[in-house]
Amino acid sequence: MTSQKVEKPGSTPARETPRYLWRSGELVEWDKATVHVSMLGWTAISAVFEGIRAYWDPQTEDLYIFHLDAHLKRLFQSMKIMRMTSPFDRDQLQEAISSVLRANEYAGDVYVQPMAYFGGGIPGYLAVLERPGEVVITARPSPSNLGNGKVASCNVSSWNRISDNVMPPRAKAITNYQNSRYVSTESQANGYDFGIILNQQGKVSEASYACIYILRDGVAITPPVSSGILESVTRQVVKELCENDLGVPVVEREVERTELYIADEVFICGTAVEIQAVGSVDKYQVGDGGVGPVVSRLTDLFERVVRNQEHSYTEWCTPVYEKANTLTSTSKG
Ligand SMILES: *Cc1c(COP(=O)(O)O)cnc(C)c1O
Repeated sequence: MTSQKVEKPGSTPARETPRYLWRSGELVEWDKATVHVSMLGWTAISAVFEGIRAYWDPQTEDLYIFHLDAHLKRLFQSMKIMRMTSPFDRDQLQEAISSVLRANEYAGDVYVQPMAYFGGGIPGYLAVLERPGEVVITARPSPSNLGNGKVASCNVSSWNRISDNVMPPRAKAITNYQNSRYVSTESQANGYDFGIILNQQGKVSEASYACIYILRDGVAITPPVSSGILESVTRQVVKELCENDLGVPVVEREVERTELYIADEVFICGTAVEIQAVGSVDKYQVGDGGVGPVVSRLTDLFERVVRNQEHSYTEWCTPVYEKANTLTSTSKG
């Protein structure tokens, strides 16, 4: 069966669906991967997921999955918090992700989303202990926005961040996104691009779907993992690039709201948003309102790293096709 394109009059054409996804051990045609409507909503209660990017490098004509190890490690940690076991080990999931990308013949930047949930007709609200989850992996084209020069306008949300004893933010859980959704809906209603969320102690935690850094006097500062953040892979990558390559020291400490207003630079980072400069917070201009010097250098370096064009970080890039790969890749395959 071929995927269909739905076009509504007056709207942009709907995204073409991928040809294949991966479901519990096998590649399945997109249109055949259905669940019964009675399960709508309930399976999502226990669902945890990952957002991973794969970047195309035109030089080697290969697709590189960025930081796959860190993402799979976090997926297993999210499952553990849910008391869910995985029927697939790390290597099987790596091969599954690569197989979805190859089956769809992607030759451009891609966003990959593995998701694990309690299937088999078990409503997600029931207590379930150490039972295997089902795993589905989807992938769709998603061109990188790195270096487009855009700056985001942000507000400090009137909603607070969920906390570890309520809905642990450390788990990348679908249900946690209700918090993000309140925040982003409020931002949009008030004309902002992203909301920044304070935790219940009133300190900065993160943006609605991304972590946050501020720059003050040459130091990059980011809230610690105990501030109600999702332990972001990109946040950790930024830390290493700043310290090892850019000569910018990084400090993890609590950040207060008014520090956002007086910072030299503010940016948010995550797999989906990549690295996004913030030009204003609550209509206070940040720096000169444009892309600051550190964000600019960081973005350039980050783009080379994710496309496997920086020799020292090649172990972060897992090749999908292993074509004319001129770099010595140390990735496990
Ligand atoms: C996924 C996510 C991030 C970013 O994490 P990365 O590992 O960098 O993609 C930040 N905040 C929330 C709430 C997230 O779900």
